[in-house]
Amino acid sequence: PQDFAGRHITVAGLGVSGISAARALAGLGAQVTVVDGGSGDKQQAAARELEAEAIGVRLGDGETLPKGTDLVVTSPGWKPDSPLFTAAAEAGVDVVGDVEIAWLLRPPGAAPWLGVTGTNGKTTTVRMLAAILEAEGLHTAAVGNIGTPIIDVVLGQEQEGAEPYDVLAVELSSYQLHWAPSVRAHSAAVLNLAPDHLDWHGSMAAYAADKGRIYEGNTIACVYNVADPATEELVRAAEVEEGCRAIGFTLGTPGPSELGVVEGILVDRAFVANPQAAQELAEVSDLASPAPHNIANALAAAALARAFGVRPASVRDGLRAFRPEPHRIEHIADVGGLTYIDDSKATNTHAAEASLAAYEHIVWIAGGLAKGATFDELVQKSAKRLRGAVLIGADRALIREALARHAPDVPVVDLDRTDTGAMSEAVRQATRLGRPGDTVLLAPACASMDMFVNYNKRGDAFAAAVRELTAEEN
Ligand code: ADP
Repeated sequence: PQDFAGRHITVAGLGVSGISAARALAGLGAQVTVVDGGSGDKQQAAARELEAEAIGVRLGDGETLPKGTDLVVTSPGWKPDSPLFTAAAEAGVDVVGDVEIAWLLRPPGAAPWLGVTGTNGKTTTVRMLAAILEAEGLHTAAVGNIGTPIIDVVLGQEQEGAEPYDVLAVELSSYQLHWAPSVRAHSAAVLNLAPDHLDWHGSMAAYAADKGRIYEGNTIACVYNVADPATEELVRAAEVEEGCRAIGFTLGTPGPSELGVVEGILVDRAFVANPQAAQELAEVSDLASPAPHNIANALAAAALARAFGVRPASVRDGLRAFRPEPHRIEHIADVGGLTYIDDSKATNTHAAEASLAAYEHIVWIAGGLAKGATFDELVQKSAKRLRGAVLIGADRALIREALARHAPDVPVVDLDRTDTGAMSEAVRQATRLGRPGDTVLLAPACASMDMFVNYNKRGDAFAAAVRELTAEEN
């Protein structure tokens, strides 16, 4: 592993990831300075803590490069064209992210990585993959946006007595890939590509290119989505090790070198001795949620596991054991003939489209911060499933206008309130619009921060509102 002792490292940002990177690198003997443009109470408090651990902190200036810096470590919120990184480039100093540091710290013979990226479904797929690997009896961890930071996972391996991992299931965001030039996965998947975070990347092409980085140097398999040709193009553009294969997944009947679905059965025609005889892996009914995008995630996870040599029975056992994370098409309750589903994690139109496609008759609760998105396509595709819509949040007018254009007959309640009781009112209004057998679906297609701390809190508020209904019912 790379030796960071004695190096002068500047860490950008005093957030969760910056603090974790600073501590880890200082622990390895580096001279660390964390810089942050802010200087509020929160930053002051964090600075005092780090300074007590002999980590330097500079507040109120996140732009100039501290003298003597020989490496800069980024944080997710920082745009690639931030002045600090420009200054580093001018000084000939490398800029990398936490994933790159983790990769460079891997001891010889360390567990290979199975990588997952995509606009939506990363966390779900990585968790499914970890469940499958565990069912095979492998020692593994799901690494990503939730749980232990990746540097800590890799460093944990160094500790005496730690049982070494056999393999890691790693979620990689486009930001992380942008700043992780040396990562070389065993196999990797790009689940889908839709416009998101374009404010950060600058353009769709730059966003796609960053996602495509996940395939560079793969040794066994590059897994792509047959229904999303842009993902296959990224495979074609990547430089991979000799013998590395392009493997597709599809919700339809699979061709050679693909995994797919035949009569409700997930089958593999890629990692089999005789591709004419599709290998059965699992049944769709083995999945906790049979929504189409969830089947796609399961196929991607299965492809990565099969590339690693996992047996078919373990794919089935792992998928059976998998339980979705909260706020991702989470079934909250059935009350008065209506089913209430929390998909608060649908923070963009691509994700909301997936959950709207999963139900027949929907009362849709949507709205929040649009992040520059437009809603015409989403509404067009979902219009025939909508029993009604209840709109909340700052940018709800954009959705209201799209509904007026493409679904003029759908009754809409436009809730002009942002107070804490607004979600409760939204659920009541949705309940009023629903008919027995319908689904009340929170799939906002927007970020939550105009009304809530994050999407978790938004989903919690929805669940609490549904519980109020249940209490009244009894
Ligand atoms: P990520 O980690 O990429 O944000 P998650 O697994 O947390 O992905 O899911 C985020 C949201 O995206 C969920 O609310 C779900 O509705 C939706 N989603 C999950 N998988 C897919 C997919 N394969 N295609 C489209 N949308 C998806």
